Amino acid sequence: MSMNKSIIPIFIPHVGCPHDCSFCNQKRIAGERREVSGKELSETIDTYLSTITNDKASIEVAFYGGSFTGLPLDNQRELLMPAYRAKEAGKIDDIRLSTRPDYINDKVLSEIYKLGVSTIELGVQSTNDEVLIKNLRGHSSQDVEMAVNLIKAYNIQLGLQMMIGLLGDTPETIAETVKDFIKWRPNFVRIYPTIVIKDTHLEELYNLGIYKPMDLEEVISIGKDALLAFNTANIPVIRMGLQSTEEITYGVGIVAGPYHPAYRELVETEIFRDKIQREFDKEDIKNSQEIVIYCNKRDPSKVAGYKKSNKDYFTHKYKLKSLKIKITDQLMEGELVVKNDSDN
Ligand code: SF4
Repeated sequence: MSMNKSIIPIFIPHVGCPHDCSFCNQKRIAGERREVSGKELSETIDTYLSTITNDKASIEVAFYGGSFTGLPLDNQRELLMPAYRAKEAGKIDDIRLSTRPDYINDKVLSEIYKLGVSTIELGVQSTNDEVLIKNLRGHSSQDVEMAVNLIKAYNIQLGLQMMIGLLGDTPETIAETVKDFIKWRPNFVRIYPTIVIKDTHLEELYNLGIYKPMDLEEVISIGKDALLAFNTANIPVIRMGLQSTEEITYGVGIVAGPYHPAYRELVETEIFRDKIQREFDKEDIKNSQEIVIYCNKRDPSKVAGYKKSNKDYFTHKYKLKSLKIKITDQLMEGELVVKNDSDN
């Protein structure tokens, strides 16, 4: 998960996905897609490799698009072979794919492990069985646990994806999912707020008034609790919100829901607003009008907040004459100290 990672993305259409998960439009647009051949894939990899200029970067071939291990084994082999060869030749470092929890078993794992797959991302979405059923996922929380244990037994890196605001979700069911994820100790997590997308089951339920998406405020507040919990457990959250490539590639049509292009920034803004507030609550700065907030070099934009909203918020709330943000290497990422500016 280093910053120095170059990704060669390969999009695998969900040909023949037998499921119809409430939030997903793959089934209904699958007819428009075609299969990718091994030969094409070789060429794609070579083309990408010729454009990568950062020679310090580790290079990963990543198969996007759902249920890789749901493909017939021959098909999986054909797709993995070009990546495997590139890995054997030292041209790439990692191979990643994503799949459903119930498409993981020992046979599949031993095959793809031999073909160099180093990371598997599971689309879990929720570990609450009722939520899984309501959203037509077609797998249970037990399937998730089994898949997690098998992948870990193979020493393959594990990523888990969860959603916030599915049909039947409450803050409690989401907290339950976060807790289960932490217990399983994945190598990384992705969090997606549920958006109502055109041509999905959720869209129908939304139009009937049966499904009501969470509002932005609620998914920020729940996302905040989730991110804090994963941070505390030292589990990297590598993505919060829709990925732009997904939107572009799949031509997603957003019908309703808490979509925001800067979702993660909004969550981090609130986390830092809380931190700053706790500092302001301390007696010794309560009456000062000139304030300086010290933070680690990674954090000034989070301290200031999305579109400087934290800065504006505190300036207004405490009628400050000035609020400065200064970097110091005395503080770790996430730590901050608030002082009266006239003190030093
Ligand atoms: S989320 Fe995955 S499993 Fe569910 S319908 Fe979409 S492609 Fe199929």
